[in-house]
Amino acid sequence: MKDKTGTVCLVGAGPGDEELITLRGSRILAEAEVLLYDRLASPRLLSGVPEGCEKIFVGKREGNHSASQEEINALLVKKAKEGKRVVRLKGGDSFVFGRGGEEILALEEENIPYQVVPGITSAIAALETAGIPVTHRMEARSFHVITGHTALENEKERFLQYGKLEGTLIFLMGVGNLPEIVKQLLKGGKSPDTPAAIVEQGTCIRQRRIDGVLGNIEEKAEEWGVKPPAVLAVGQAAACHMISENLPLSGRRIGVTGTAAMTGKLEKGLKDMGALVYSAPYLKIMPTETLKKRRPDWKSFSWLVFTSANGVNQFFCQIKEMNLDIRALSHLKYAVIGRGTADALWQYGIRADYMPLCYTVEELAKGLAKELLKEDRVLVLRAKEASGDIHKIWQEQEVTYEDLGIYETAVDEDMAGQLWQQADILDTITFASASGVKAFFSAGKNCSEGEEGGYGQKEGNALPGTMICIGQKTEETLKEYVPAALWGRIKTAAEYTVTGLIQACAETMPAKR
Ligand code: SAH
Repeated sequence: MKDKTGTVCLVGAGPGDEELITLRGSRILAEAEVLLYDRLASPRLLSGVPEGCEKIFVGKREGNHSASQEEINALLVKKAKEGKRVVRLKGGDSFVFGRGGEEILALEEENIPYQVVPGITSAIAALETAGIPVTHRMEARSFHVITGHTALENEKERFLQYGKLEGTLIFLMGVGNLPEIVKQLLKGGKSPDTPAAIVEQGTCIRQRRIDGVLGNIEEKAEEWGVKPPAVLAVGQAAACHMISENLPLSGRRIGVTGTAAMTGKLEKGLKDMGALVYSAPYLKIMPTETLKKRRPDWKSFSWLVFTSANGVNQFFCQIKEMNLDIRALSHLKYAVIGRGTADALWQYGIRADYMPLCYTVEELAKGLAKELLKEDRVLVLRAKEASGDIHKIWQEQEVTYEDLGIYETAVDEDMAGQLWQQADILDTITFASASGVKAFFSAGKNCSEGEEGGYGQKEGNALPGTMICIGQKTEETLKEYVPAALWGRIKTAAEYTVTGLIQACAETMPAKR
């Protein structure tokens, strides 16, 4: 029998923002057995591959040897011949200066089956997110995507010819060669007054737009210290600013942290209000064995208590694995800490019987104690590392209860570290738990090691402008890490929910730093 041959799929990752990969691209990523990726792909896309997927970095990293194109081609062929489903993830679109064509030729030579999934190219998207349309009625009737890189000696005056074109000229990989590009376009016929703009790190949290005209764009790029990746646009369209300043969060840069469920909701809400969002779901919910081992006698309890939506979801997931028929719980009453948890419970068709007015563990404990009858027995299902003074309050009130830690949170330290690197650009960051705060600062400590002062001592410049907490416990934990002089930059949401966090972001003016 013939050996099983694998397949290779070239997937365009889009320009940076991980939401800008196609639906098909992300589905194929989720089925990858081997992933080859380079620097331009958003690091968060990497969490879209299955657990056991082999991830191979083949891009350039400062100071390190990067794989040559031949080595990448050979690796694609080798992995496919091992029978693997190989995904080659490339920034933007694979065929826009992505050397995708060369990889395809190498695969064809070996008769390896392949597919190509289109991506959104930075040539269009980086400009678009900064307000520059590549074509515009009457003003720009074509666009031309040009490499700013000149590899060949005899092509020294290659840019001259573009000086005569009327449409929008879009240069990729042009930062290093900017003086030459400008010089030749002027010599080739462009006026020095032609609008020109540079978009650096388009669609990403550090996106910057530098405006000018052909006659001064080089000087401006120097002044602003423009670095790759950046796109240069030349032509009337570069004078457009098609970006609304009237959305509630226009111009804001907000970092969101927590579990994927939490950051997903925050990211959506904040982006829809116009913010640039850096999402760092570095907390992962892991089930514990506690519930399975304990196998509670449900009949002996009268109340179940949940202090988070995660607790609710974990509980229903775990009892399903335990083969429990849900009718065994029909006699129980349910107490929740707040609306988010109540909503999660309602997803399973259950209305909460008790919810305190103020969403804290203490209020829940005190309030529920008043509702209880003498014979009631309470089962609390929450995080293993959960805090809050339930015990003290209930012991005083002589409540009969049991507290089970049915899940715990694990930290993706790399992801927290990546967020820390972006912290200085953020005008706002949100924290949805004390564990999220701890993970952020512990990543910061690792990043700052060796740097004089470390975090908190560079007059707070390493920290985001405003730090928004979901509740008091999170705030208390944050204050353990942030110097007292900067406490003015800490805010706590009025309502302790995702909506409350979003509202707090909208109500906060970015702090001046
Ligand atoms: N295949 C990619 C381009 C690869 S060439 C695509 O379709 O987008 C790499 C160049 O793309 C960079 O030098 C820069 O000019 C541009 N680029 C990629 N991502 C970018 C981004 N987020 N913002 C601005 N330019 C970007």
